[in-house]
Amino acid sequence: MANKIKLGHVHLSGCTGCLVSVADNNLGLIKILDDYADLVYSLTLADVRHIPEMDVALVEGSVCIQDHESVEEIKETRKKSKIVVALGSCSSYGNITRFSRGGQHNQPQHESFLPIGDLIDVDLYIPGCPPSPELIRNVAIMAYLLLEGNEDQKALAGKYLKPLMDLAKRGTSGCFCDLMTDVINQGLCMGCGTCAASCPVRAISLEFGKPQGERDLCIKCGSCYGACPRSFFNFDVMEEFESISEIIAGALK
Ligand code: SF4
Ligand code: SF4
Repeated sequence: MANKIKLGHVHLSGCTGCLVSVADNNLGLIKILDDYADLVYSLTLADVRHIPEMDVALVEGSVCIQDHESVEEIKETRKKSKIVVALGSCSSYGNITRFSRGGQHNQPQHESFLPIGDLIDVDLYIPGCPPSPELIRNVAIMAYLLLEGNEDQKALAGKYLKPLMDLAKRGTSGCFCDLMTDVINQGLCMGCGTCAASCPVRAISLEFGKPQGERDLCIKCGSCYGACPRSFFNFDVMEEFESISEIIAGALK
């Protein structure tokens, strides 16, 4: 078996729900930690105090720019990681921390929170509030294949990860308005309803076959745009669907 990769969880201004989603892979997570990855950093789970060298850093939460240590932590993470993953919507898009205004005891000056992509280059996004355990698992396995697999496995992993890398290049803001500007207003919406199913706060309903957003409910997680099959539908991945499913199922046996 090839070398295990070094995996870390970096906790910034997040709620730990993303880490719970990692753990919700149940025995799948144990299998990944047995065979493919060593967890070298996670303040919640392991007694390692300083950020080590990592192959893959799963970063949860946004960055409070009035908190010097958080700003240093994300820069350090970038320096020490081959692949930086924005795990979840706070890290990718700011999410609920977009609404922070400061003024609360006992750090009233802690008012500005940015997605990590506003401070460092991010390699890929796993959006979602919470992100799905399956997507986290798939990314972990594909990152392993990308770094330690044979040439065919590297090529397949590259195809799988590309849409999530494209999402990271696209920007750091997520909200219902993405569906308006980049799907519906472009004449691309086919009324499938996937956006409504993906919204964690039920801010989207379909009226006459078109999504309507309750913007006061929207927590700016970006899930709807990520889930929409007309946002960044990728034929390379869909063409490889069976081999990708087989490789993931095989890896978890
Ligand atoms: S509409 Fe729902 S899924 Fe879309 S960004 Fe807002 S909260 Fe997230
Ligand atoms: S998921 Fe995309 S295509 Fe489907 S209804 Fe929503 S905006 Fe339209």
